[in-house]
Amino acid sequence: MANTKRTHYLDTPIEFLKGVGPKRAELLRDELDIHTFDDLLTFYPYRYIDRSRFYTISEVSGELPYVQIRGKISHIQLHGKHRTTRMTALLSDGTGRLELVWFRGFRWLKDQFKPGVEYIVFGKPVLFGKRYNIAHPEVEPVTPGAINQSSSMQPMYHSTEKLKSRGLDSRGMGKLVKALLPQAKAHIYETLPAHILEPLKLMPRDQTMLHVHFPESSLLLKKARARLKFEELFYIQLNLLRHKMLRHEKSEGHVFPVIGDHFNDFFHQQLSFELTGAQKRVLKEIRLDTLSGKQMNRLLQGDVGSGKTVVAVMCMLMAIDNGFQASLMAPTEILAFQHYESVSNMLSGLGLRAGLLTGSTKPAERREVLSALKEGHLPVLIGTHALIEDVVEYNKLGMVVIDEQHRFGVAQRARLWSKSSVPPHVLVMTATPIPRTLAMTLYGDLDVSVIDELPPGRKPIKTIHQYDRNRLKVFGFMRDQIKKGRQIYVVYPLIQESEKLDLKDLTDGYESIVREFQPPQYAVSIVHGRMKPADKDYEMQRFVKGQTHIMVATTVIEVGIDVPNASVMVIESAERFGLSQLHQLRGRVGRGADQSYCILMSKDGLSADARKRLEVMVSTNDGFQIAETDLQLRGPGDIQGTQQSGILDLKIADLTQDESILKFARGQAKLLLEDDPGISNPKNRVIQKRLQDLYHDRLFWSRIS
Ligand code: ADP
Ligand code: MG
Repeated sequence: MANTKRTHYLDTPIEFLKGVGPKRAELLRDELDIHTFDDLLTFYPYRYIDRSRFYTISEVSGELPYVQIRGKISHIQLHGKHRTTRMTALLSDGTGRLELVWFRGFRWLKDQFKPGVEYIVFGKPVLFGKRYNIAHPEVEPVTPGAINQSSSMQPMYHSTEKLKSRGLDSRGMGKLVKALLPQAKAHIYETLPAHILEPLKLMPRDQTMLHVHFPESSLLLKKARARLKFEELFYIQLNLLRHKMLRHEKSEGHVFPVIGDHFNDFFHQQLSFELTGAQKRVLKEIRLDTLSGKQMNRLLQGDVGSGKTVVAVMCMLMAIDNGFQASLMAPTEILAFQHYESVSNMLSGLGLRAGLLTGSTKPAERREVLSALKEGHLPVLIGTHALIEDVVEYNKLGMVVIDEQHRFGVAQRARLWSKSSVPPHVLVMTATPIPRTLAMTLYGDLDVSVIDELPPGRKPIKTIHQYDRNRLKVFGFMRDQIKKGRQIYVVYPLIQESEKLDLKDLTDGYESIVREFQPPQYAVSIVHGRMKPADKDYEMQRFVKGQTHIMVATTVIEVGIDVPNASVMVIESAERFGLSQLHQLRGRVGRGADQSYCILMSKDGLSADARKRLEVMVSTNDGFQIAETDLQLRGPGDIQGTQQSGILDLKIADLTQDESILKFARGQAKLLLEDDPGISNPKNRVIQKRLQDLYHDRLFWSRIS
């Protein structure tokens, strides 16, 4: 295939659009990542406002996002002692009066409004004291043109303060798009083939661009948006699925023919419990993968406490019994260390050794680990990203478990093991469940196993929300529980482990707890991220052995530590934690036979979102349900770790709302690959080109040439 670089009209730098110029172009690039005509064209409105509807002032209420009112403007006043800080005016339409207010632009504005002239005022009413006002409304005189122009859906575009100061507010952005569209129309090329567009009745792309920016009707807008959402999700899914298919096709995988002594020993002798049905099912799925001769790429989802670690360890044993090494990779050092502790523990009964490798492993230890690994004396290596560095050479790596919080995108995963000719099997585990749509988008190239069953005998954790002012009651409850022989976690938020303020919260809290729970009757441990590992370990061990009653900690205990006798989890400033983090923390209790409790402490005066989070925690223990709510509340961009993945920069699709489109798009992508696995059929040329444009890779075509 010739690799001639032909510049397309839509690749023209934005600077050359009439009304932009170098200064604004720079701002557009810096603030909104708009570099070219095409970038502007695909900078879709985030909302539309129906400007065909006029409201009267008496109809205005707080529920209305934006209103359009016809009226007269009077009583223009400037406020502020030495300099003007505010300008107000009154709008009246015979049904009432409403205040208009401006905080800048007075000089230009104050002579704009003529008495007796009727204006169209547009903006968002906000209740201020007892009266509604509209800040920085759009105002234009009533003229036949204005009415006409207003009688359609007006697009609203995101903008920034800097852009606004240069006239590029939502309206200004709209003007640019309006200027671009007529000249670009002929150059808008189709990105979906006819054999998809036609049966699905999708709007052609040029039409779509017109109607997504300046819809002629709400029906056309809906069709335009549906097409763009489908297209966006279709290409993401197609990309994921072709990665998956290629891997299946190309990647040879190690075969583990035997279930050997280590596995059997562990299963029959070491395990003190019966595996759940779900655990057994997942192990069978993995067993089949490792017999298939193809590389396994599997996502393991399961709620906190569902027993993923045991499954991971048994997978590693499958590899070891077949003469391979295994590794386990965690996203942080603390997590790596905790895994190291618990896995070493499980392996020690089998006479197997695990090594630990992180960024802070001392050079001598590092050398020892690396050489043992290379020579094949070290069956298991646990660590952070450090364990996939180039200097790390395995003797025979057969299985990799990645314990992650959505840290890798598909492209990174594909690169991970490119250095070995036969890649190891890969099992990705998530700490808590993630919403279906997110899983499909982030991990759509993986096969999925779900542990959807908790070990038997677990009593559901009782979760209670308490305000800080009821702290004495909580202390009383803690005393009762300690009297019954239970142990208690008290957790403080540490959003950034380096934040001094948070550490102060923790030490203050620790002191108040020590005051309340004094020796010799009570013993209290404290653990936080700033302690030396040895001290931390010492304190943890005291708690694990039951020598202390209360463990005051930051979120370092979030994952890993396993103390069945600890049955109470008090989470301080719970309003500051995200939902999945709260759920993960709560999962530290409820592991023994006793009734467990989670107490969410918060201040009064919670935000609506914080209140909702706490309510959800109180109402359910189901991690899958919590994950869905989390996505609804925060949107995919804010879910931990998703930013790094890059594939969630969705321009128009919304994972909280478009699940059915997503599933449909995935289905269509599957059909396409079944019909034309190489995407080489001439009827799919448009798709081939689009994939290259979007993903800049030559996944298929490099094979062919
Ligand atoms: P996860 O990593 O999924 O949050 P863990 O693997 O840490 O969960 O398991 C939680 C606890 O449940 C551990 O104490 C583990 O030993 C125990 N456990 C795991 N599987 C079972 C089972 N089938 N029956 C009883 N206890 C189990
Ligand atoms: Mg775990």
